[in-house]
Amino acid sequence: MGKTFVQKILSKKLGKEVEPGKIYIFPTDWVFAQDGTGPLAIKVFQELQIKEVSNPSRVIFFLDHASPPPRSELANSHKLIREFCARIGCLIGEEGDGVCHQIMVERYSAPGQIIVGADSHTCTSGALSAFATGMGSTDIGVAIALGKVWMKVPFSFNIQLKGKLKERVTAKDIILHLIGKLGASGATYKALEFTGEGTRNLSMDDRLTISNMAVECGAKTGIFPSDEITREYLTSMGRENDFQEISYDTDAPYEKEVFINIEEVEPMVSLPHSVDNVSKVKEVKNLKIDQVFIGTCTGGRLSDFMKAAEILEGKKVKSRLLIAPGSRKVFLEGEKEGVWKILIEAGGILLPPGCGPCVGIHQGVLADGEVCLSSANRNFKGRMGNPKGAIYLASPITCAASALTGYLTDPREAGLEDY
Ligand code: SF4
Repeated sequence: MGKTFVQKILSKKLGKEVEPGKIYIFPTDWVFAQDGTGPLAIKVFQELQIKEVSNPSRVIFFLDHASPPPRSELANSHKLIREFCARIGCLIGEEGDGVCHQIMVERYSAPGQIIVGADSHTCTSGALSAFATGMGSTDIGVAIALGKVWMKVPFSFNIQLKGKLKERVTAKDIILHLIGKLGASGATYKALEFTGEGTRNLSMDDRLTISNMAVECGAKTGIFPSDEITREYLTSMGRENDFQEISYDTDAPYEKEVFINIEEVEPMVSLPHSVDNVSKVKEVKNLKIDQVFIGTCTGGRLSDFMKAAEILEGKKVKSRLLIAPGSRKVFLEGEKEGVWKILIEAGGILLPPGCGPCVGIHQGVLADGEVCLSSANRNFKGRMGNPKGAIYLASPITCAASALTGYLTDPREAGLEDY
């Protein structure tokens, strides 16, 4: 019988066959935390009273959630993290470098690795065929010290993809469609493994968006095969040597199979206050949008902004439009492509690379009764800093089309060019 991606990656790491459902102690390739979770991980590390970190060059702290910090206590957290990194000799993603998950895939993540992060969307690196998963600060504190984690091997779901995206339909629509099918806890502690010829029609940016949101149906991780698209991506990041092929076995022991014909997927939206509360955009009528946010580890890559710019070039938005590049690299590439000029001339506000208003700390908190349409991954009550606001989630293209009209808008709608 064949093996799942999870079995292949974890067995190779451990040097022996692993079985789903069993607990093992695994070596880690990368351990990271961000500015919200980092201080607690440091506290746990200090309580262990271990003087040295097993491998500081494989430990990273990112200052991304409150960047630059809007309050003194957050500035103090940054100071604490900087001092800790200097003392133990680990790496740091500074303010303005971007969102942890985006920097991970640009600089560090590679096929076959085990990556643990004190952030639930660590699963993003699964797009590069890594076993990447979020953990609590306590586990991360221990992993920082020892370079190891204990973990139960998840059972896997086979998400078989077929076909190609239609015009103005995106990877975000695929994952919202899947989450709607599975439900918010429909894949709890499972690995979503994306297989089928449809995977070959998805770019790395598409795959990153899909893997990023695997956790929104409870999954431990979301993994794509490592193929030519992976190789090209790593090469474009100057890391061709990090490539290794990891392909799928059609006879692997999957717990469940889900089939998605990508060609049948339409622009989707998550309605408040749950990511799995999905609907087709065309079925939600007359929803006025106060604020649109394009950015985050889900929808803040260059291709996302380029698609938005295509819709907004030479036009003016009717909703407030906030844009936050996922990383410094995304910002610099967007600058070369001229996307910021287009989006700013359309009325957009350019924020520094980082999480922006995603988690409600700063840079775009909603007023009472306001509606935000966001390219992010979560729309829980109060997520953007005000429980009296409402968050809808959609693709960057749907966000751009809706900013243009001021209402939730299917980006395929006729007449958009007349705005
Ligand atoms: Fe979390 Fe949003 Fe930052 Fe992603 S962009 S890491 S979802 S706060």
